[in-house]
Amino acid sequence: MTKFSALAHTYGTPLYLYDFDSITHKFSALKDVFKARKSLICFAVKSNSNLSVLKHMAHLGAGCDCVSIGEVKRALLAGIPKYKIIFSGVGKRDDEIEEALRNDILMLNLESEEEMKRVEIIAQKLGVVARISIRVNPNIDPKTHPYISTGLHENKFGVDIESAKRMYIHAKNSASLDPVGIHFHIGSQITDVNPFKEAADVLANLVRNLKALKIDIKFFDVGGGIGIQYKEEETIALYDYAQSIFAALGGLDVTLVCEPGRYLVGDCGYFLTKVLYEKYNGFKRFVIVDGAMNDLIRPSLYQAYHAIEVEGKEGTEKSLCDVVGPVCESGDFLAKNIELPALEHDDILVVKSAGAYGFTMSSNYNTRMRVAEVALENGEDRLIRRRETFEDVIALEKEYL
Ligand SMILES: *Cc1c(COP(=O)(O)O)cnc(C)c1O
Repeated sequence: MTKFSALAHTYGTPLYLYDFDSITHKFSALKDVFKARKSLICFAVKSNSNLSVLKHMAHLGAGCDCVSIGEVKRALLAGIPKYKIIFSGVGKRDDEIEEALRNDILMLNLESEEEMKRVEIIAQKLGVVARISIRVNPNIDPKTHPYISTGLHENKFGVDIESAKRMYIHAKNSASLDPVGIHFHIGSQITDVNPFKEAADVLANLVRNLKALKIDIKFFDVGGGIGIQYKEEETIALYDYAQSIFAALGGLDVTLVCEPGRYLVGDCGYFLTKVLYEKYNGFKRFVIVDGAMNDLIRPSLYQAYHAIEVEGKEGTEKSLCDVVGPVCESGDFLAKNIELPALEHDDILVVKSAGAYGFTMSSNYNTRMRVAEVALENGEDRLIRRRETFEDVIALEKEYL
């Protein structure tokens, strides 16, 4: 049996696999291009929040970028030091702000003046000083999918430069706020270095202006968004990426913070699914598999492309097909119009680049159990999340029958 088929046999399908050695490799490559400066790589937890993945990140020296208190708690539980945890997001509840402050994390990324006021009131109540960073929206088009573009004024994220300035001045004069950082995150799956360069230039100038007002920014956070190769897209050369940020920073003495999600885990993950049947409707070929949109929603949600491979069928003739799941939606597909060899019941399809926004976006739609997750490390495999059972899925409802 081939490698993926053997794993599918051991753990069942559908299944997520993460290659921890590749994650290590990607982390080191990024850390390496930043080595001329102090840097902190904070993994975007929303892309893959499995505790064992986070523990691996902790082991590598990464911090975490979190967008809910649940993610902050995951990061702490997995051993990420509190001084490497950032809490971002446009809509933090009071109780989330309070818990983040009690946990004394590195900083809260603020996205509005209203939010800053809430943080100030809560910090005052707790008798602590809240370290904050402000997410500035540089109004730059990253030329990616509109759903994953976040750096334009028409998006809900961040504040414009003038508001940011007002916020920094307010924070500096507040006894309960300490403005330590500045942040941008312009979108996801970005494959061109220029939007990063433009955003870094705009924010570095703001840092210089703030310096003149005696507001000393210590953390320069360039967000996430580094794209990976799903199909044939060119990706960013990490060296150019780092150099363009360094060029923007010039002589500023700041710690560079980067929050990659997809870059660190995206192409280190595989989604394994088993062929149930082949079906022909008129002239159209469908490959029906046991994985579905509830397990991997990116194709349905973003029309994202994921390459699909079959082991052990090399050299067989291929033909066009759609790979679809059992969910009752026409939008339930993993691939459209791709070439695959003739397939049989129980053949294993390997859906590639599925390590980011795969499992974390999965759901129980159609009362399908969320799948198992497995780590590959040093030539060995181990379960890091067991497959859900029917009992797990109904547990929170059963008592009300
Ligand atoms: C989603 C997100 C990231 C990670 O984005 P990737 O495209 O996965 O690198 C980083 N920072 C913030 C604030 C985010 O919302």
